[in-house]
Amino acid sequence: MKAKVKYNSLLLIGAPGSGKGTQGKILGTIPGFFHFSSGELFRSVSAQSPVGKTFLEYSSKGLLVPDEITIQLFCSYMEKVITEGRFRPKLDYLVLDGLPRNVSQWHILSEQVEVLYVYHLHCPDRSILEARLRGRASSDHRVDDTEEVIQKRFEVYEKETKPLLELFPAERLKEIDCTKMPYQVLRQILEPLP
Ligand code: ADP
Repeated sequence: MKAKVKYNSLLLIGAPGSGKGTQGKILGTIPGFFHFSSGELFRSVSAQSPVGKTFLEYSSKGLLVPDEITIQLFCSYMEKVITEGRFRPKLDYLVLDGLPRNVSQWHILSEQVEVLYVYHLHCPDRSILEARLRGRASSDHRVDDTEEVIQKRFEVYEKETKPLLELFPAERLKEIDCTKMPYQVLRQILEPLP
């Protein structure tokens, strides 16, 4: 992965249901912020295509899609949105929601991505997250919002994604209680930005 200009990025890290997507969507409506959601991008790929089939195979079990496919999809998507002028690497913040999702993805991405802040959307009580996901399951009809798959996604988050938090210096890491109202979480995300 080679690039002259690194993407100035804000990382949203949190368990399923912690509100990464909610915040990413809000931020994406502000000029100068570009929201990238790996889950949304995967869901937009045709289920008949090789990538779409692989996505369904893994996500329906609550597992991560292999790194190579994920990174490749990110790179081609970023190339596209840069060409279209939707993301301007020198000017815009890239809000990363769902990527990187493990340490090896970060090692590849770090060549391309400059992290300004990492926001850890943490939750004092998992049952709150579970309730949110159950609520979403009835409205969004996602294949990975069944009880068993939800538990697996929490497990994968603890084992593979949470260790990412240790890779960033304390001054870059912002702890946010994800049970606060979305506008309060948003305020904390924006607060450290110049
Ligand atoms: P959530 O954060 O609520 O679990 P997402 O929409 O971010 O949901 O992701 C849904 C699924 O998409 C994941 O369970 C996984 O299978 C796949 N996925 C998303 N991002 C990545 C990633 N960075 N690496 C590998 N798989 C991913």
